[in-house]
Amino acid sequence: MTLVNPIPWIRRAQHEGFAIGAFNANTLEQVQAIVAAAQIEDAPALIQISHRALQHVGDGNVTLGLRYMAEIGRIAAQSVRVPIGLHLDHANESEVIQALSLGFTSVMFDGGEFSFEENVKRTIKLRQLAHSVNACIEAEMGEVPRADSKGNVDEAVEYTDPADAAEFVRATGVDTLAIALGSVHAIRQKEVELNLDQLKLIRAIVDIPLVLHGSSGVKDEHVAQGIKLGLCKCNVATQLSQAFTLGVRGVLANADEIDPRRYLGPARDAMFERVRERIQFFGAAGKA
Ligand SMILES: [Zn+2]
Repeated sequence: MTLVNPIPWIRRAQHEGFAIGAFNANTLEQVQAIVAAAQIEDAPALIQISHRALQHVGDGNVTLGLRYMAEIGRIAAQSVRVPIGLHLDHANESEVIQALSLGFTSVMFDGGEFSFEENVKRTIKLRQLAHSVNACIEAEMGEVPRADSKGNVDEAVEYTDPADAAEFVRATGVDTLAIALGSVHAIRQKEVELNLDQLKLIRAIVDIPLVLHGSSGVKDEHVAQGIKLGLCKCNVATQLSQAFTLGVRGVLANADEIDPRRYLGPARDAMFERVRERIQFFGAAGKA
């Protein structure tokens, strides 16, 4: 299929109590692992691209990275019959505008650096632009911090305030909202618990699909409960990096191996299995 706007599937997930996986990709093989897993699970899925991925793919040039990933995402989606969206994560205004013009079907505008009023103003403009090209727009209220390789976190979790979230959604008309419930980006062990009471308070007054960032570090029973309580899109990156890298390492244990295909192939296979497992866990299998 051609790349799709994922919002009909995310809304279906909301109504039926499952979640769509948004899987981060930094390389061609990772994109292939995602769409192959979605295909075999008969599931809708998102290829998710981070700012760091763009810098990597574009070798420091974000615009070049966007162009590469737009083409790779398009071809990958066309290679399968399940609905695949291409999502740009945590982007600024310029990146959102470029991504939409290049065919991304979903974008997240991260206006966290601005005041509430300024964030609303800027988000409205980008929502209008996204909707004019039939793309989905996500925004964020609250702060999901990031851990470094030692597990140290750069800032405190700032839980999403329910009233702020409701007001922001009403004022901006965004399609989906990322909320902060205690998860942290880049945590390597599944040890974090979500503040599910906060989720209930938010869900009571915000009726659009809610998004979990940093799902890799969250205990699976909390991810499952969160999905039941209204998380409809779950972002997965760290768990996929772990699987991919273990796949490479398994081959490179042999010091004589020099052929990239011999380690990137097994890495792709390992990530494919992990994406399948997450799709099943999120309840999205068979929902294409
Ligand atoms: Zn995030």
